[in-house]
Amino acid sequence: MARAKATRGLCVYCGKEYTRWGMTKHLQSCPQRAEQTGQAADAGKTVPIFHLLVQDAYGGDFWLHLEMPGQTTLQELDGYLRAIWLECCGHLSAFEFDGTRYTQIIEGFDTWGNEASMDVPVAQVFAPGVQGSHEYDFGSTTELALEVVAERTGVWSGKPIALMARNAPPDLKCNVCDKAAEWICIDCMYEADEADGVDDWFFCEEHLLEHEHEDEMALPVVNSPRMGTCGYDGPAEPPY
Ligand SMILES: [Zn+2]
Ligand SMILES: [Zn+2]
Ligand SMILES: [Zn+2]
Ligand SMILES: [Zn+2]
Repeated sequence: MARAKATRGLCVYCGKEYTRWGMTKHLQSCPQRAEQTGQAADAGKTVPIFHLLVQDAYGGDFWLHLEMPGQTTLQELDGYLRAIWLECCGHLSAFEFDGTRYTQIIEGFDTWGNEASMDVPVAQVFAPGVQGSHEYDFGSTTELALEVVAERTGVWSGKPIALMARNAPPDLKCNVCDKAAEWICIDCMYEADEADGVDDWFFCEEHLLEHEHEDEMALPVVNSPRMGTCGYDGPAEPPY
């Protein structure tokens, strides 16, 4: 999607607004975050905790800053990404880190040379600077880029993954009027000349109903890199 303005999002600790990269820097120095994590550090057994930046592999408009302790598994991360961004009809998925493909291993079947089960703790894979990818659905694939931004030692309690920040919905307008886009016409999307760089498949409710393709092949605009793909219609809400 060709838009000049980078999407922004709010820090869950202090409520300030930043772009994806601004947030990466901000989270390292956010005083409210430091206060919360510092208080917790006095309270018990410490573990390695990883800061992971997840973004769509296309334009980076969709992004999540996540944090998780080393014992969280790639499988749990996959479940989180499905819940917030990806799940439409139970497609297979895989991570790739350092040439190894972590996927759903079906018991009784042989694995390929570089395949492994995604049921591994992230501590076995993550370290600061490590980059990887995640693919959901090997047909109409949604590809994500992952980067381990930082590691700290602290006390972890609660859910296996915490959301520290995410992008606000991209500012998409109806193709006809100036209202916010609510629907994607899938016919228009397939027909569009991608070379012209115009996203002319977005419509408000009124203009979706009015235009020649009618609304049979429409999907809602949602805050997810999978919008408009397969049957994806959300929820695109934080699962935890
Ligand atoms: Zn903050
Ligand atoms: Zn699907
Ligand atoms: Zn409109
Ligand atoms: Zn259309």
